[in-house]
Amino acid sequence: MFKLYLDPGHGGSDTGATGNGMQEKDIVLDIALRIRNILNSEYANVDVRMSRTTDTDVTLAQRSSDANSWGADYFLSIHVNGLDGTAQGYEDFIYDGLSDTSQTAQYRDIMHEEITKVNELVNRGKKKANFHVLRETTMSALLTENGFIDNDEDAAKLSDPNWLQTVARGHVNGLERAFNLERSENGDNNGDDDNENDPIYRVIVDGTQEGAYRVRQNILNAVDRNLDSANEILIQRIKD
Ligand SMILES: [Zn+2]
Repeated sequence: MFKLYLDPGHGGSDTGATGNGMQEKDIVLDIALRIRNILNSEYANVDVRMSRTTDTDVTLAQRSSDANSWGADYFLSIHVNGLDGTAQGYEDFIYDGLSDTSQTAQYRDIMHEEITKVNELVNRGKKKANFHVLRETTMSALLTENGFIDNDEDAAKLSDPNWLQTVARGHVNGLERAFNLERSENGDNNGDDDNENDPIYRVIVDGTQEGAYRVRQNILNAVDRNLDSANEILIQRIKD
């Protein structure tokens, strides 16, 4: 099982970058939830834990220590940039104490390639920084900066749900390649091959949708992942 710690930046009283009527904390949560949804519904050997699933305050120390104590295999922090309105594009960061041949750099090369293949943003390159979540996490870690919220051209993309889904897909494509993720059996709930006609079920944990699944085992996995911590788990049929 590949254990991914997914970290939407900021949250609660910390808005992150702002611009064009948007706040970074909302966009990065949206992207992160999309990444989790894709992984949970399409991949068999992934366990995802998030630093936050709602608009709440989480300190940097809480994020790194939670990932460390959970024993994550990879730490992926999602951000959106802001500067002066003219800067635009995508960049990503690994810890600046690491060499370009480190395992973390090799994972990043793959992630960078897959994300920039689809995101249609100016490519600002592969960077290094001494950020807390990169430095204090004990596993390989990557922080992605997905466009500039205060740049008109990037902001138009950031406000488009289709683009957000594409960016989430780019992150997932990178994870699949870097960590050899296995796709779920294209299976279904009743054993026939016509899975398009099988119902889809939402799994809602304490009021927040964890995912939507057609494959029976994925539904059960979602329940199992949350059983210890949840007060309420709702399985809701959404399509006939
Ligand atoms: Zn940020």
